[in-house]
Amino acid sequence: MRALVVSDIHGNLHALEAVLGVAQDHAGGGFDQVWNLGDVVGYGARPNEVIDLLRPMATIHVRGNHDRVCCGLTSSQGFNPVAAQAAAWTRLHLRPDNREWLRAVPMGPIRASDRAMCAHGSPLHEDQYIASMRDAWTPLQRMETEITFFGHTHVQGGFSQRAHDWAEDRPVYAEPRGNTTEYVTQAVPPGSRHLINPGAVGQPRDGDWRAAFAIYDDVLEEVTFFRTPYDVAAAQAAIREAQLPERLALRLSTGS
Ligand code: ZN
Repeated sequence: MRALVVSDIHGNLHALEAVLGVAQDHAGGGFDQVWNLGDVVGYGARPNEVIDLLRPMATIHVRGNHDRVCCGLTSSQGFNPVAAQAAAWTRLHLRPDNREWLRAVPMGPIRASDRAMCAHGSPLHEDQYIASMRDAWTPLQRMETEITFFGHTHVQGGFSQRAHDWAEDRPVYAEPRGNTTEYVTQAVPPGSRHLINPGAVGQPRDGDWRAAFAIYDDVLEEVTFFRTPYDVAAAQAAIREAQLPERLALRLSTGS
């Protein structure tokens, strides 16, 4: 089984379409399932189109903090002003059926396969950021499966443990920020524990503007991280046309 793992699409239809194209055509065998780690909406200008595409395709949907706020389950208290403005715009523009669907998306962690769970922030709390080994230590000990896929930080990579060995795993690409699709494979053998972030499809914050995703192969016991270029100018034009904050358009060019 090969699962395409996507997170933090954030209403960026152009990035999602590029990811699906690459995952189907170039990823050495396509994928059998899609696992969505949340934040499908908020920030980007195409929330309905993203949901329409992803909703029937994914077998696992986990809600993210922006999903929760954009469908009205919780307020935007705690969001910075730009995030709050985007959430208000999204709430106004979501079609009623998509809004209802979002409201019903479950909180993580959700069991996805024998060895893997899916979460938004952390397997212990949906809003927790796992940005360092210090953040990763307790979840790695406590999670119920050997592997948890998570998102929320918009930074691709993860943390792993085998007995007393701990490692931070950041995929290293030959041409970071380049205009090509690249991938890096990491083994996830039985007996080791892994927190794995596929990166953000729609708003990367790790300095590489390319859309990020991962494919998990449970037969080969490996995860492949991908970065792929997409039409950033078109995503930015949509944000400007929607009169969303300019910062949301600008940051897509730099991945910051
Ligand atoms: Zn997010």
